[in-house]
Amino acid sequence: MTPPRNSSATRDIATAMHPYTDARAHEANGPMIITRGEGVRVWDDQGRSYIDTVAGLWCAALGFSNERLVQAATAQMRKLPFYHAFTSKSHEPLIDLSEMLVERAPVPMSKAFFCNSGSEANDTAVKMIWYYNNAVGRPQKKKIISRVKGYHGVTVASASLTGLPANHKLFDLPIAGVFHTTTPHYYHEGRPGESEEEFATRCASDLEELILREGPETVAAMFMEPVMGAGGVIVPPKTYYEKIQAVLKKYDVLIVADEVICGFGRTGEYWGCTTFGIEPDILTCAKALSSSFLPISGVLVNDKVYQGLADGSHTIGTFGHGYTYSGHPVSAAVAVETLKIYDEMDIVGHVKKVAPLMQAGIQKLASHPLVGDARGVGLIGAIELVEDKAAKKNFDPARKIAARAQKLCEAEGLIMRILPGDGIAFSPPLVINEEEVALMMNGVTNALDKLAVELR
Ligand code: PLP
Repeated sequence: MTPPRNSSATRDIATAMHPYTDARAHEANGPMIITRGEGVRVWDDQGRSYIDTVAGLWCAALGFSNERLVQAATAQMRKLPFYHAFTSKSHEPLIDLSEMLVERAPVPMSKAFFCNSGSEANDTAVKMIWYYNNAVGRPQKKKIISRVKGYHGVTVASASLTGLPANHKLFDLPIAGVFHTTTPHYYHEGRPGESEEEFATRCASDLEELILREGPETVAAMFMEPVMGAGGVIVPPKTYYEKIQAVLKKYDVLIVADEVICGFGRTGEYWGCTTFGIEPDILTCAKALSSSFLPISGVLVNDKVYQGLADGSHTIGTFGHGYTYSGHPVSAAVAVETLKIYDEMDIVGHVKKVAPLMQAGIQKLASHPLVGDARGVGLIGAIELVEDKAAKKNFDPARKIAARAQKLCEAEGLIMRILPGDGIAFSPPLVINEEEVALMMNGVTNALDKLAVELR
């Protein structure tokens, strides 16, 4: 249907270019315009309401309304709407937030540095690693490893770390010095007869081979999302992190945990690192840090890394990195209030209470004729639609099966996120209650039943 002239949809098509959108399809079909939000729901401009089953972009942890965050932002805007953090300037929200993050870190961390997005946090981590290795006198140790299907953002370095074709094709990425190792996805990558643990061992030996091939003296760090999100919600096999961390420690390779999705309760612990026993030297976080009410991200560094950075900055006379809005006072004040709310509501306890219901629903979907794999932990999960369950054969991507499921979910009052390989993600606001989880799972089941009938 062609939108009426001068409608918001027409104006959008005329002037807006959207991230992660097929621009030609957008010109033809127009936007879905969201006008308001409350709790786990948002409303479109036609007045239809939806449960957002991925909390926007895995991020609106407290849902789409929260008066305390509004108050925190308003109060800070009145008091001090902006000040920067360059050249030793500081302000209370930045100090409070640094302290709260360092106190809550999954392993001892020394300092917090702020940016505005997950991508910037990961780019900052890359630059810190290069700077650190120069400062400690090993300028040859610069290569960075991440994983096929990993997602670390879209800026030049973080998009290079991302291991997905759409983020590289036509962009001339990845940059030199970035390497992608095996995806720990047992369902697809495990070999016939190979146990999960044997697969984890193979992942670790692939990693070791890569390090040895490149030369351990040249490999600086490995980035990892505890659960890989945008690449498919990939929960690694048992013993995986234990085994790969042993390899990284053996060759003195820094560990960077990208907690941009997993941080602040998503996996059923405060950090994904705690769920999986990851001991990072550097931790990046964003999204739920402010429940996405304002943009802010953080990079936590341990004392070893900090000492190198501090020495380097002292030699040069400055740490020549930072953003105008690093630790923006309004964003920081909202993040501080968000973390207080998490403490008061016991966000981890809440996730532990509702997650089993969601995970049971996901496992129930595993027996659906269209579902090949069902996986998850805490309040993050996914199902994967396949043409042939026994052969684990995916549909021809040209058939856009998951996109059809997504449309059917919309008719059920759900905004779903589709993943590469016909995956459907679940990552609702962390404040979702049991009744809403049941509505979400029933809606998806109905949509898949309808899709199965359509495909017959
Ligand atoms: N890291 C992870 C794990 C993410 O999921 C994302 C975004 O989805 C990013 C980094 C990039 O964050 P941003 O989109 O805020 O740049």
